[in-house]
Amino acid sequence: MPTFRAPRGTRDLLPDERAVFDRLQRIAAHLAARYGYRPIETPLFEQAAVFERGLGEVTDVVEKELFRLAPRTEESEAWALRPEPTAGIVRAYVQHGMQTWPQPVKLTTTGPMFRYDRPQAGRYRQFWQFDVEAIGDPGPAVDAEIIELGTRFYAEVGVTGVEVLVNSIGDPACRPAYLAELAGYYRGHVASLPPTELDRLERNVMRLLDSKDPAMAELNAAAPRITDRLCEACAAHFESVKAHLSALGVPFRVEPGLVRGLDYYTRTAFEYYVAGREGQQQALGGGGRYDGLVQLLGGKPTPGIGFGLGLDRVALVLAEQGGGGSRAGDGPLAVVVGADPEDTITRLRIATDLRAAGLRARADLARRKLGRQLEAAGKEGAHFAVIVGDELAQGQVQVRDLLAGTQRIVTLADLARELARADAGHRHG
Ligand code: AMP
Repeated sequence: MPTFRAPRGTRDLLPDERAVFDRLQRIAAHLAARYGYRPIETPLFEQAAVFERGLGEVTDVVEKELFRLAPRTEESEAWALRPEPTAGIVRAYVQHGMQTWPQPVKLTTTGPMFRYDRPQAGRYRQFWQFDVEAIGDPGPAVDAEIIELGTRFYAEVGVTGVEVLVNSIGDPACRPAYLAELAGYYRGHVASLPPTELDRLERNVMRLLDSKDPAMAELNAAAPRITDRLCEACAAHFESVKAHLSALGVPFRVEPGLVRGLDYYTRTAFEYYVAGREGQQQALGGGGRYDGLVQLLGGKPTPGIGFGLGLDRVALVLAEQGGGGSRAGDGPLAVVVGADPEDTITRLRIATDLRAAGLRARADLARRKLGRQLEAAGKEGAHFAVIVGDELAQGQVQVRDLLAGTQRIVTLADLARELARADAGHRHG
């Protein structure tokens, strides 16, 4: 038999780790709701053109990392798994005429994304993002609101030392002249450019700025900065974003080399890092303004901004920082055990009634001795063992409090109520 494994670059989230993600998703959902973002679900795959047009053909995500699905027949559409959620959400915004809704339309989603990346620590081919999008608001106030929302997410999940890097990458009014200047600068230094960067120079010159090649560090430090070349409107927008951030008490650092990987970004760009770990693999999350995207995907010109926060990396950092939340509340409240190993019907019936009453209960169905059943219930962290014995003839069972070590007789008709009361008392006590 072959031994099957999860595909390279993917991971199984076993229950302990899934519980960490559950907690992150719960906090994300509550937080997004508090800020007025409503949940949306788009397909995990789209027409490949949604990403090619939306993200740009000359981006790593589209050129190298897009998971394309092989067409089944010649006439079928070309599809790809979503590498990020924004393009699909904007496609939905256009398709469903959301421009007629009150603006901005504030949407949130959390789910898996797919990139055919070279797998390494914190870089997977399937990973999770918590995403928010505010479509139809030109900012700058909403830019700061969204950046602050991201910092609050990290604070609430318990990641410490998160730093926000912000930049403005201009717009179609000022970026072309800057790009020409930047290309001229690098052409003056072709001899010192590594081959991969040479290729990018002609195709997407801004990407050189966030090159992680150590050979580029010196060159990039001296490169012309977009923040010094913004047109008046972009400069005023950026100043205002910063003023709003300061007023909200969000500490941030301006990083002129922060350009983000995708074509659709305009003006505000931002990323979150754990301070001191600003490598490419280490960004906890990022986002930016995409004032051209709705139009690129066939809608009327509409501004927008959003972020995607990587949950896998948050889980990694939480584990490193020793956080991640407790697993309390995972185990059953009660395990129904019995003196007659063969009587699974009674045990299962009692557990079923408890569950119907809304309690976390399990029956021991293993047909083993009572002592072994009790031992297993204790190991599982159950609070109570409901012991079925001779009292059953009088409609009663023994209830043992496994934490307190006490035991008493309870009528079956009262069992669910008694357990619920004891559980509530224990939780609040
Ligand atoms: P990006 O759109 O590339 O800036 O991605 C946003 C966030 O998603 C990043 O800051 C990461 O936290 C996370 N992320 C992106 N790519 C991956 C990946 N291959 N594996 C795990 N997390 C990722």
